Amino acid sequence: MVVVSGQLEDRGTTDDAMSSSDAEDELIEPATPTPTNAGRTLLFMLPQLPEVIPLNVGGMGFTTRLSTLLRYEDTMLAAMFSGRHYVPTDAEGRYFIDRDGTYFGDILNFLRCGDLPPQERVKMVYKEAQYYSIGPLLDILDKMQPLTGEKVRQAFLDLMPYYKDHLERIIDIGKHRAIQRKARFAKLKVCVFKEEMPITPYECPQFNALRFERSESESKLFEHHCEVDVSFGPWEAVADVYDLLHCIVTDLSERGIAVEHQCIGVCDKHLINHYYCKRPIYEFKITWW
Ligand SMILES: [Zn+2]
Repeated sequence: MVVVSGQLEDRGTTDDAMSSSDAEDELIEPATPTPTNAGRTLLFMLPQLPEVIPLNVGGMGFTTRLSTLLRYEDTMLAAMFSGRHYVPTDAEGRYFIDRDGTYFGDILNFLRCGDLPPQERVKMVYKEAQYYSIGPLLDILDKMQPLTGEKVRQAFLDLMPYYKDHLERIIDIGKHRAIQRKARFAKLKVCVFKEEMPITPYECPQFNALRFERSESESKLFEHHCEVDVSFGPWEAVADVYDLLHCIVTDLSERGIAVEHQCIGVCDKHLINHYYCKRPIYEFKITWW
């Protein structure tokens, strides 16, 4: 039974965007009579929490021991069920957390016995562990696939400072082009080149030697913008053009955008003397509906 002051009842419950640092602050603190609210506070008494806790997480029911929720200090659950805060209950008396409960079972299993989620749930459980600020679980998931793989991939993508902007540009151009033409598909020209390779047909055999001997002032002569919608490159890494194309397709598909690509030749723009741009050009086809 909780009797609270009028002032306290007006305050909200836990916030969706709660982070680890403010988890404690955001929860409703019991009202301590102060000179300003003492008059209005008739009685304040927090209930004794039971040993077995029934939970309603976004409509999904769970049952666990109080000790499980208190397993690690500094987590949002430990703060919520510390006995120092008011936790709302549903019509059946279950403690209510206004959060999608799909992955809450994975969180509980970790708190119960250190069980880890299967690989396909790791990404989503990580998000939940962030919400409930469960540091030990975050540390372990961080070292699991696919999160580790994502870090390795990101280290490569960090070489391209405009990678994200370029993705947005692909989406924007594709959208406008399809709307303008009332089309189901949109086609874009995208240049993806790992290194500069302006060569003449005669130079092919010595291409590697040429590339490394070229001075900086000479390479300036080859700088230009290919006539494409978006251009990625150059970069210095083992990962090649196909790896970057894989990243682009994966990241667009994460945004729900289906894209196919094929190489449609090289830029072939005349640069200087007998030099032509040999950067590969890809046609991206976005299917909107
Ligand atoms: Zn070019």
